[in-house]
Amino acid sequence: MKEKDIRTRLRTGDVVVAVAGKERFGKKSGKIIKIFPRTGRVLVQGFNYVKRHTKPTQKNPKGGIVEKEAPVAISNLQIYCPRCQRGSRIKMSGEGEKKKRLCARCGESLDKG
Ligand SMILES: [Zn+2]
Repeated sequence: MKEKDIRTRLRTGDVVVAVAGKERFGKKSGKIIKIFPRTGRVLVQGFNYVKRHTKPTQKNPKGGIVEKEAPVAISNLQIYCPRCQRGSRIKMSGEGEKKKRLCARCGESLDKG
């Protein structure tokens, strides 16, 4: 079976909120650090800390257990709309280069700059 990249309208640097499993992620909102299209997961700053056993490194000579963010499924996230002050779905507007991401609820532009 051929794996397919998952298409998402989310981008690195977007602020997202958890729509499910808030307790599990330990935080309500955070910035996207990295997107993994292959697995449909996103690494969010401060989200979903897990304990990991690590080998000793220069930075951490003793090794041991470190807490690190783990990627969460895109379906658990929504982009944060500053105007609605909550998570929202993304609506696309315009064509080609002028394509913009808007809040599906209030129409606020979700693209910076
Ligand atoms: Zn909105």
